[in-house]
Amino acid sequence: MTTRQTKYRICPLCEATCGLELVVDRREVTAVRGDAADVFSQGFICPKGVALAQLDQDPDRLREPLVRRNGTLLPAAWDAAFVEVERRLTPIIAQHGADAVAVYLGNPNVHNLSLALYGQALLRTLRTQNLYSASTVDQIPKQLAAGLMFGTFMSVAVPDIERCDFLLVLGANPFDSNGSLWTVPDFPGRLRALQQRGGRCVVVDPRRSRTAAAADQHLFIVPGTDAYLLMAIVYTLFDEGLVALGRLAGHTNGIAEVKAAAQPFVPAAVAPLCGIPADTIRQLARDLARAPRGAVYGRIGTCTQEFGTAASWLVDVCNVLTGKLDREGGALFPLAPAFAANTYGEPGVGRGVRIGRRHSRVRGLPEVMGELPCACLAEEIETPGAGQIRALITIAGNPVLSTPNGARLARALDSLECMISLDIYLNETTRHADVILPGLSPLEDSHYDPIFTQFAYRNAARYSPPVFAPPPDRPQEWQTLLRLTAIVAGQGAGADVGLLDDFVATTQVQRAVGDPRSPVYGRAPDDILAALVPRRGPERLVDLALRAGPYGDGFGAHPDGLSLSKLAAYPHGIDLGPLQPRIPESLRTPSGKIELAPQQLLDDVQRLRAGLGGAQRNGSLVLVGRRHLRTNNSWMHNLPQLTGGRPLCTLHIHPADAARLGLADGGVARVAARVGAVEVPVEVTDAIMPGVVSLPHGFGHDQPGTRLTVAGARPGVNSNLLADELALDPLSGNAILNGIPVQVEPAGAH
Ligand code: SF4
Repeated sequence: MTTRQTKYRICPLCEATCGLELVVDRREVTAVRGDAADVFSQGFICPKGVALAQLDQDPDRLREPLVRRNGTLLPAAWDAAFVEVERRLTPIIAQHGADAVAVYLGNPNVHNLSLALYGQALLRTLRTQNLYSASTVDQIPKQLAAGLMFGTFMSVAVPDIERCDFLLVLGANPFDSNGSLWTVPDFPGRLRALQQRGGRCVVVDPRRSRTAAAADQHLFIVPGTDAYLLMAIVYTLFDEGLVALGRLAGHTNGIAEVKAAAQPFVPAAVAPLCGIPADTIRQLARDLARAPRGAVYGRIGTCTQEFGTAASWLVDVCNVLTGKLDREGGALFPLAPAFAANTYGEPGVGRGVRIGRRHSRVRGLPEVMGELPCACLAEEIETPGAGQIRALITIAGNPVLSTPNGARLARALDSLECMISLDIYLNETTRHADVILPGLSPLEDSHYDPIFTQFAYRNAARYSPPVFAPPPDRPQEWQTLLRLTAIVAGQGAGADVGLLDDFVATTQVQRAVGDPRSPVYGRAPDDILAALVPRRGPERLVDLALRAGPYGDGFGAHPDGLSLSKLAAYPHGIDLGPLQPRIPESLRTPSGKIELAPQQLLDDVQRLRAGLGGAQRNGSLVLVGRRHLRTNNSWMHNLPQLTGGRPLCTLHIHPADAARLGLADGGVARVAARVGAVEVPVEVTDAIMPGVVSLPHGFGHDQPGTRLTVAGARPGVNSNLLADELALDPLSGNAILNGIPVQVEPAGAH
């Protein structure tokens, strides 16, 4: 009798969330391919998805807790590990308060159902002011701009690529990322389809990325100047009478203010700054305005820069002014089946978003989305006084490699009184921990995507049960998080996780029955809870959210609607159709309108204005990042399938700069910035513009005390040894990772 089976799993490795088909034989994966029947990804897969089997089988992946004894991390039983967490953590909370415990959330928190749903329980119980995450080295400027304009931090409009005919892409490389804050598996295929139906794509980027190479037009831009370019496009739209809001006119505030703000940014003044001729800028504005169906999309390159929030804001200002927002073929708000912030509450009576409700202790930086900039984590640990961070909990994060001035942060971690990590690897960050609590293989977890359905190119619902049964002797991550929650709540390491889970579910039910727009509004909470029996853990929360969501069965009110049971019967997912216009229903601003000119952003325009006519470039170099299809997070460097072939961690430099500096292809360069220096192999290429060099992030696997055998064999260098923790977009607190001033010379030159 054959023991081979076919299983389906949503890929958890990047935002594209492709449906995978896995062939398994007992406890082993023998093949991974794209699920051709998946309603959302239609069979697309990238090399990372194939490597999921290696992640499952990686001998370096932690399978039991590690506890530091006499300075050494040693294997421990689960109960002993939780007792150790309690022993170390509770005196700190008792003596110094919850703010003495910081939490850092890494990127996988949004790719893992347990972490996404139960991390909140820990945070709500601990109530620390010191919350940090990878958001502030990534996308928080876009979320802030969206929040100020549309009323929630998750109200990000995404291009309707299936019906779009003109796509302007800034600072993004979806050929390699398959979308970011835009979930779009098989972007290459969808771009080809756009071009085959006569559409055009223009990419603005300091690098000729694979996306730029496939586009119809590529414009090199000086790093950090996207906001200037976009302002000049806005100026042109007004100047040439191209503003046409269409249906949005009655739903938009602030048009006159935006027009006034754009006045200094004439294309001729902006062109020398951004390196794009004035005529080209004007033509871009005309092409966008005249395209019947088009959209502007900006991503990480526009976020991780000095004017990250302004650039993110101006992307949507362009979409609104040209009537492309909330229109078929333009940029639309997905309607996610569950957990979507902009489906709760009454449209038109939203509270909008608030920022700056508190500030960091040392530098006085404002919170955004409840978080402080991760660039100030080290100083908050190092600086004595009331409110000093004495303990840190990291959850699926490697901030030593992913946040600015990783060397300083690593030193700061060593000074902590206590560090607890939830992580599947002993890596450059968790090697500093006192206790490491590992999660399961993604193939031992179930999955529903609570986050990226909110940025999807098309509405859909999909659920994956575990491919392999979770090991009975190891807690699932949601159970680990609840045990930590019990510890910080003072209930001790032996608290009843089941009772805590009931409390979490009851809280969610009460929220649903109290929401006037919910199909279960006014229902008795006990009836709803009874209808969720016997589900527990994430499945109970997903079932509730689906049934009380916009497509839900309303617990009987709409019998044909969604529930988890119904969804589980469709292993390839349920298609919920193309994106539809949602304004004004999707808006949650206090005015019930699009706020095109939020005061915080108008104020920031003064900073932008100050840069007009600024110093021209004089042969100095700036560093930018780059993405590769074979890597996303640092731990992927431990998977042999993703690390073979040409080394990925090289310094890209233009031939003219290489010649001027005496650097040869294959040689080694020393790259120095204010905070540090690295030596890295050189790759000379005209795919990068003169004056700019590029390094990928997430490398630097040469630290002692880690357990990353494959990554350690090809360590690369940590680009965040060059990133300056003092250089931020002041509005969002996002680190500046694109446009870092650097000096480059042959290694050994001095
Ligand atoms: S594109 Fe992303 S989601 Fe799709 S297979 Fe690759 S890593 Fe997985």
